[in-house]
Amino acid sequence: MTITQFFKSVIIGIILGVLLVACASNNIRITRHHKKIPKEIEKSRKMLYDITEGSLGDRKISIGFMRFSEYKKYGSSTVIGTCNLVLSEASSEIDIRKDYWYSFSLKEQILLLGHEYFHCQCPFFGHINGVLEDRCPADFMNSSIPDSICINRHWDIYEKQLKEGCNGVRRHKSRDTRAQAADVQIR
Ligand SMILES: [Zn+2]
Repeated sequence: MTITQFFKSVIIGIILGVLLVACASNNIRITRHHKKIPKEIEKSRKMLYDITEGSLGDRKISIGFMRFSEYKKYGSSTVIGTCNLVLSEASSEIDIRKDYWYSFSLKEQILLLGHEYFHCQCPFFGHINGVLEDRCPADFMNSSIPDSICINRHWDIYEKQLKEGCNGVRRHKSRDTRAQAADVQIR
């Protein structure tokens, strides 16, 4: 990295860092935690990439399983995914909770990845909250990620939103601007 690149990284980092203050300061890390995408995640990432025709699931955003020290600090057992700013590279990366990942169906995995890529790739640090008549989240960018029951009932809605890719930021009229550090799955 040249000196110019370094300063560019720092400046971009500071700008994004300011945006993230409204989100959560503990979503910032100095260096990358993940170098290679684990093959268990890669399969679902590729499917997300194909479904959205490349709008979500950019390989340049690293992704991997969350370190124990990371999810311990959220003080919640329901933290399933986070988007983290990597200051040294002016980039971002995604953490996924390993134990939840293995308990998820393919659709749940794709939706969780879509949600985190939406944060990191678009980038969009808010959430789009609101519920359907049956109390299921109306949007896959809800701060409570839809569970398997909601996904099975409303996959067509969520799939349509995924396909909008970053254009979906327009849906955020009534979004909760206080984005949370971590995404949870609760009903
Ligand atoms: Zn989120």
